[in-house]
Amino acid sequence: MTLTDKQKVAEFLDMSKDYLGSGYKSEKIEYQFDDSQAALTESNIDSNNDLTFDSIGKIAEEIKVCRNCSLCEKRLNAAPGEGVPEPLVLVIGEGPGEDEDKQGRPFVGRAGQLLDKMLAAIDLSRNTNCFIANVVKCRPPGNRDPYPEETGACAHFLERQISLLKPKYILAAGRVAAQTLLKTTESIGRLRGKSCELTVLGETYPLFVTYHPAALLRNEDLKRPAWEDLKILKSRLE
Ligand code: URA
Repeated sequence: MTLTDKQKVAEFLDMSKDYLGSGYKSEKIEYQFDDSQAALTESNIDSNNDLTFDSIGKIAEEIKVCRNCSLCEKRLNAAPGEGVPEPLVLVIGEGPGEDEDKQGRPFVGRAGQLLDKMLAAIDLSRNTNCFIANVVKCRPPGNRDPYPEETGACAHFLERQISLLKPKYILAAGRVAAQTLLKTTESIGRLRGKSCELTVLGETYPLFVTYHPAALLRNEDLKRPAWEDLKILKSRLE
């Protein structure tokens, strides 16, 4: 039950007691509920998408204790995301791997190191002008693709992150991120290098797709097309 719900129930019970007992309305009692749990579990997206009290830190705290899907059972640490506020580019990957699960940070393993190099080649960095996140925040066992119910359960975190961060551009890294964000089954070969749009909570953001750095580590032949993608992205950012 949310904090607001608890307050409404308490007010209703007080009012019922007054009318059934004395027939008079007594002074309103202000109850102080402990909201520590509510703060960790309530989404601040209400029916009007009111994000007034949301923050990147609050979302991260919710993610760390989230139990909305079965990925929470095997995780060591969730990786909420990291980078600068109002980034030039929000990079969205698939989900934490083994290193990310250990550290609770996105893209810190081999693929992450390559991602950092790819970004640096076009003057981007999580320390200065990017934010790095994933479509799911907990590691899928054995690095399998996340299931639709897992991306679905996690989607509101990413939507809230996007709405707060207001990136100038979104870069979807790899098939899973691109297909999940664009709600398509189109192949990565067809999606990459193209300008797309993503609408989140009423705002539309330009989105660009490229290969996942882990795919480049597996297949050297993808490095050239990935570099072509990055050059296009760089020209768009200018
Ligand atoms: N692969 C991803 O998609 N995300 C990470 O954070 C790490 C590896």
